[in-house]
Amino acid sequence: MKSILIDTIRSNVRGEVLLSEPLKDHTTYRVGGAAELLVRPHSVAEAIWMYRLAHRRGIPLTILGAGSNVIAPDQGIEGIVIETKDSFKRITFVGNGVVRAEAGVTLLELARAAARKRLRGLEPISCIPGTAGGAVVMNAGTRDGDTSRSLVRAGVCTAQGRTRIFKARELSFGYRRSILLGSDWMVLWMEFKLTRGNPRDSLKAIDELWEERNRKYPLEVPSAGSVFKRPPNDFAGRIIESAGCKGMRVGGALVSERHANFIVNTGSATASDILALIELVRKTVYGKTGIYLELEQIPLAVHTSCNGSSRLK
Ligand SMILES: Cc1cc2nc3c(=O)[nH]c(=O)nc-3n(C[C@H](O)[C@H](O)[C@H](O)COP(=O)(O)OP(=O)(O)OC[C@H]3O[C@@H](n4cnc5c(N)ncnc54)[C@H](O)[C@@H]3O)c2cc1C
Repeated sequence: MKSILIDTIRSNVRGEVLLSEPLKDHTTYRVGGAAELLVRPHSVAEAIWMYRLAHRRGIPLTILGAGSNVIAPDQGIEGIVIETKDSFKRITFVGNGVVRAEAGVTLLELARAAARKRLRGLEPISCIPGTAGGAVVMNAGTRDGDTSRSLVRAGVCTAQGRTRIFKARELSFGYRRSILLGSDWMVLWMEFKLTRGNPRDSLKAIDELWEERNRKYPLEVPSAGSVFKRPPNDFAGRIIESAGCKGMRVGGALVSERHANFIVNTGSATASDILALIELVRKTVYGKTGIYLELEQIPLAVHTSCNGSSRLK
């Protein structure tokens, strides 16, 4: 029975357990139907417990960080969505310049905490509005460096609910990808090795990066950052702009006038609008330049269907 399952979860998880929770309230695009059940575990142990439960019962499971790189489907997501952001987010300074962060801490919180402890190295990714877990999966980065640059190792939960520790080099990092992307594993925590720095300089660098991005990107409207990956030796924004796509619109989704590689939600966009606009831009660019743009954003789908893909029973 659904209610028995929910009672079991509620009595084992101290974090929030929300029924039919609109995903548009948990994604930066502000689109998406309801998660059948959205759970925000309070600790790494609770997250592992959730994974084991889903595996045992054959319940589809999906992981959401800050929802800043996903397009959540209009029809919602069946089963359980685990949201890590602000759920488990402990930061521990373990000595020797190493900081351990739980997956749900945001990159900004982490970089600021490290800066205050006189550790530098996370400034380049501090302006990315995601969680540390999402950043490892995506190998999130800016022109000044990406997540893999200072990562030492990460603790991961497998679909069966077992924990494994991977050294950074085992995660096959590349441009906006890792072995974890598209896998059914969940990042629980990670360690970064940082260098000694001056807190005032680091905090200033972080503030300056945010200011620069505020000038460059349409941060005042909902989006999920860059839509397409950077093609070799060029910029997706430049190519899209020169193909005449700025201002293209499908429903409430619009190719930003400020930065052509951003699609923004003007207020009424659905996931279908965004996906249709992505295809329109892609087709137009391909037709005019022969370049096939690769998607950076992720249409959110069930992470692990464990033993089956039934709705909550
Ligand atoms: C305004 C704006 C600017 C941006 N600028 C940049 C930028 O400069 N550089 C850049 O790289 N990105 C950028 N992004 C995109 C995004 O912030 C990053 O990709 C970020 O790393 C995503 O983290 P998240 O926690 O939001 O992950 P989500 O979007 O929630 O999830 C992304 C994927 O990772 C999976 N996932 C998330 N957490 C875990 C976990 N703990 N374990 C396993 N799987 C997990 C999800 O299932 C999903 O498949 C930007 C986004 C916005 C909105």
